[in-house]
Amino acid sequence: MTLNELYRAAKTALEPVTEDPTFEAACLLEHFCGANRTELLLHGDKPAESEAGQAVLSALEKRKTGEPLQYILGEWDFMDFSLKVGPGVLCPRADSEVVCEAAIELLQGVPSPRVYDLCAGTGCLGLGIARHVPGADVTCVEKSPDAWPYLTANTADSGVCTIQADVFTYYKLLSAECADLIISNPPYLTGPEMGALMPETAHEPAMALDGGADGLDFYRLLTTRYKAALRPGGWLVMEIGYAQAADVLALGETHGWANGSCRKDYGGNDRVVLLQKN
Ligand code: GLN
Repeated sequence: MTLNELYRAAKTALEPVTEDPTFEAACLLEHFCGANRTELLLHGDKPAESEAGQAVLSALEKRKTGEPLQYILGEWDFMDFSLKVGPGVLCPRADSEVVCEAAIELLQGVPSPRVYDLCAGTGCLGLGIARHVPGADVTCVEKSPDAWPYLTANTADSGVCTIQADVFTYYKLLSAECADLIISNPPYLTGPEMGALMPETAHEPAMALDGGADGLDFYRLLTTRYKAALRPGGWLVMEIGYAQAADVLALGETHGWANGSCRKDYGGNDRVVLLQKN
């Protein structure tokens, strides 16, 4: 089979599985055969190595069961870097890039800011901050033993600290006013949403998705228990579900936060709530 034939076969197999078979087929060819689009145009008539071809075919079988493309590839780009990802950890999503960018903006001009990324998963948010805020001292906190190996692998040699802990108790270990910014993409799906997951999301760990009956458990925790750890003027930056802005901003008001605002992701959905400590 030539590379082009393999590419076309992958695209056809992916049509019933995904909205973007062209993109996903290209990802598989690049990952398993080392052939990007230019390579396919120039040398697509070359035979695919049989091992690589087999790898693509077995990837397609997995993808048909709804396994996320990110898990199959084992790595995924986020902002300007790449993360190791696989079963047991939430896939980094492009939607979360705006969360990280908002935090990076807020930290401009803050010398050596101390930052906590709570429910860190792959570490995408904390790592993005560490890469773009010179001198930032970033700690990623993650409870899940299944997510932990990805977090430690991704943060190795980055200078980012990792702590395996439950955020429902971890706040007790933080000294008062120790942090300049707390960022989190917590579990935020509601009970009904957990009962109707997309096939890909159903492969992701429930622990990373389940925000309690109304989806707001972690926002109640963050807006109450983590205020003491921020210095006055410090920020709490949270990813939210597209329908949660009003509820999370209201929690901010109730618990005495200032300057609450919401930002949208590049798809036009509400995605980030920012709250400042007075
Ligand atoms: N963005 C994910 C989804 O919509 C949820 C991630 C989360 O709960 N933090 O499936």
